[in-house]
Amino acid sequence: MAFDRDQVADLLVKCHRRCCICHRFCGFKMETDHIKPPGEGGTHDIDNALPVCFECHAEIHCYNTDHPRGRKFTEKELRGHKEQWLNICENNPGIFSQPFQSSDAGPLNSLIDELEYNIKACECLGSSLSISQFDEALRRGAISLLEPDLKDKINLAYAKSNCLNQLFYAFTNVAKNDKANEKRVRINKVTPETIAAIEGAHDSLLSFLQKD
Ligand SMILES: [Zn+2]
Repeated sequence: MAFDRDQVADLLVKCHRRCCICHRFCGFKMETDHIKPPGEGGTHDIDNALPVCFECHAEIHCYNTDHPRGRKFTEKELRGHKEQWLNICENNPGIFSQPFQSSDAGPLNSLIDELEYNIKACECLGSSLSISQFDEALRRGAISLLEPDLKDKINLAYAKSNCLNQLFYAFTNVAKNDKANEKRVRINKVTPETIAAIEGAHDSLLSFLQKD
């Protein structure tokens, strides 16, 4: 069971495909979360649906009640955010004719894109793997939102990516002498491990972001 597709379409029009909490434009990278989770008796009625971006979705679900830090989103507050945003959209459409302060993709969105890029980069010998979105996600505190297992997988993927970058660099610099073969053998060994680590991080991050 899921929310009714036609009713979700109407809701996404009403919220302009902007997150009801941070108001960022999401495009297709948006979740319809349950305000009251199904596991706690929440229904699939559209009244219980909350359109949110990946980052806010992660924030809502990452709260660790065993080690509480900050303030947990409550059902009452989530409902309030939804009503408030839909009210603004309906009654103040003029806000959409003005530039929003930030229309950037969120750091977790960008991390997914970067992991996908890096899988392709691994297949091209000498093409450096990108780590800029990982650095940005660290800087913005997005990694600290994640469950420990998922955090470990992402850290491992980027540690291996860094390692492969170092090997590419070394290979380029010794390419004209007899150590080149040695480096090439090492790259051939490390590349499949790196791809596996990146794919593991990518798939786990996507499924974390898409869970109810
Ligand atoms: Zn958001």
